[in-house]
Amino acid sequence: MASTASLKHGMEYLAIPGPSVMPDAVLRAMHRAAPNIYQGEIVTLTESVVADLRKVARCPDGHVAIYIGNGHAAWEAALANTLAPGELALVPATGRFGHGWADMAQGLGIETQILDFGKQSPIDLDRIAATLRADTGHQIKAVLATHVDTSTSIRNDIAALRAVMDDLGHPALLMADCIASLACDRFEMQDWGVDVMVAGSQKGLMVPPGLGLVFFSDKAAEKRRTMPRVSRYWDWVPRSAPQEFYQYFNGTAPTHHLYGMRVALDMLLEEGMEQVWARHDILAQAIWAACDGWSRGGALKMNVADPVNRSRAVTSLSLPTPQASELRSWLEAQMGLTLGIGLGMAEPGDPARDGFFRLGHMGHVNGHMIMGLLGGVDAGLRALGIPTGQGALEGAADVMAAHAPALMRRETPAAR
Ligand SMILES: *Cc1c(COP(=O)(O)O)cnc(C)c1O
Repeated sequence: MASTASLKHGMEYLAIPGPSVMPDAVLRAMHRAAPNIYQGEIVTLTESVVADLRKVARCPDGHVAIYIGNGHAAWEAALANTLAPGELALVPATGRFGHGWADMAQGLGIETQILDFGKQSPIDLDRIAATLRADTGHQIKAVLATHVDTSTSIRNDIAALRAVMDDLGHPALLMADCIASLACDRFEMQDWGVDVMVAGSQKGLMVPPGLGLVFFSDKAAEKRRTMPRVSRYWDWVPRSAPQEFYQYFNGTAPTHHLYGMRVALDMLLEEGMEQVWARHDILAQAIWAACDGWSRGGALKMNVADPVNRSRAVTSLSLPTPQASELRSWLEAQMGLTLGIGLGMAEPGDPARDGFFRLGHMGHVNGHMIMGLLGGVDAGLRALGIPTGQGALEGAADVMAAHAPALMRRETPAAR
């Protein structure tokens, strides 16, 4: 056996938290000539995409604005329509992305009050309540919450956050970053009383990066009307209620992304959102079972202790530095498997950064892919001589075996 042999030649697997694995059907739909962008199919296709995005976000009465951009564009779009320079936003941060959204707000001249809950704990609702209670003059105009912070893999309870705001009768808008979580972790925009939600195409929605999505309620639309000025490009009014087709995108439509999104939405709605969430839940539990097994060796650690507070889209982990970076390098070179870097856990240049990594499990992933991912990691840990406990892969297989019949039982026409 040649020591220079590599096992990477085969289908590559990018298991980072976005871009996620994309279905071949999505890619095939995008592989086509550009359509007429003034009339015909693209117009009805866009209308259907908007209608079905509402179903995925569970906001039947909400409004949707689509931007050619990434998640950062969606962040800026949401802020530009709702908060004027000098207005105050409360930002509960549970990782890098919470701070990122606050930074985006500061760049627009919005004042921010950041409550930092660290890198391992969810939002502490008592601290939110105390802050909102102290805001007797209602200076806080919006709460910018991150549903899943992709750096830490913490998942926050957005419905409970809404309940705190309602109990106190605080009129601030509730805004949620669901860029990582949409179509992975359960999210019910309307039932949970979320006023503004942002998402991107390249994570749970299984389409290449390039579309930033903003969903908003009537209350948020009302706040938009009081804004002294919103730039033409970011203004969500024409985009969400266009008189002419070009207004959807304030210019040329993202033609191919729309074709890809059409197929991705068909796939999600065909599976059914409850099933999509159940699939990600079971796959995540299998991943955690494997991580529990590896952890018993003493080296590997999961970032979020309580499963209740863990994302079903991404899992953040650590190893004694620099073994996380070594594991990632080994897997990429030897297995054709790329894991996520440890974003936001330590600053760039800090050697501690090489002790963090992440598994992305959003989008078009199923049981055998996750077993392959875990098997690859298991091989990598062995190759690097990192101590692990017994039974990691068996634990993952047990989770899938235990849950699969339940999924099949629920697969009835009535459940759709
Ligand atoms: C990926 C992500 C972003 C940033 O999205 P980009 O497309 O990289 O701009 C913001 N917030 C969360 C929670 C994310 O997962």
